[in-house]
Amino acid sequence: MVVTPHPDDAEFGVAGTVARWTGQNKAVVYVVCTSGDKGSSDPNMRPHELSKIREEEQRAAAKLLGVKEVIFLRHPDQGLEDTPEFRKELVRLIRIYRPATVVSADPYRRYLWHRDHRITGQVTLDAVFPYARDHLSYPDLLEEGLYPHKVSEILLWASEDVNFRVDITNTFHLKLAALRCHRSQVGHLSSKKLEKRLRERHEEMARGEDFQLAEAFHRVEIRS
Ligand SMILES: [Zn+2]
Repeated sequence: MVVTPHPDDAEFGVAGTVARWTGQNKAVVYVVCTSGDKGSSDPNMRPHELSKIREEEQRAAAKLLGVKEVIFLRHPDQGLEDTPEFRKELVRLIRIYRPATVVSADPYRRYLWHRDHRITGQVTLDAVFPYARDHLSYPDLLEEGLYPHKVSEILLWASEDVNFRVDITNTFHLKLAALRCHRSQVGHLSSKKLEKRLRERHEEMARGEDFQLAEAFHRVEIRS
């Protein structure tokens, strides 16, 4: 399960790894917390038009990566808060989909970090542990038949404390193609420029490894 603050963050953060997983027939679900309705410099763009475009782009990117399901929570862009309601929404989805691995943005990146990214990462961590795991957290979810679930690992992208790298050499082209689906966000970059930037970034992440391109994470293993 990939919990992403805005459309396109998951592609920047984890698309190469997602393509590897779907290539191994693993089921991946995207949870998109906001529909990115504030991120435009076009003065004529209205938020509801923008969110419609962003959702379509996100669906196209997910399809290309072999992600079967994309869930839009439609919280306001730049408006995410660490609330009991948001946490419960994520707990509910974790209990429904029962993922082995949950991926999100590292909330502990220092200084300039989009507030929505920080909050998404934090609330995701809390939802995984302890709220999705504990019987007594949400009696009403139990009554609905949504039983506790133990996630095995969490991967956090954009981390300043990388301890885990995934070889994306063979899926880099899919990551690039998925990013290009987000035309309203990366459309100002030429194809060449986007590829060059991305390649350099992922070569850097693979430094010291015996493969060429990597996605880098902070990995938290949860022992049962
Ligand atoms: Zn974002």
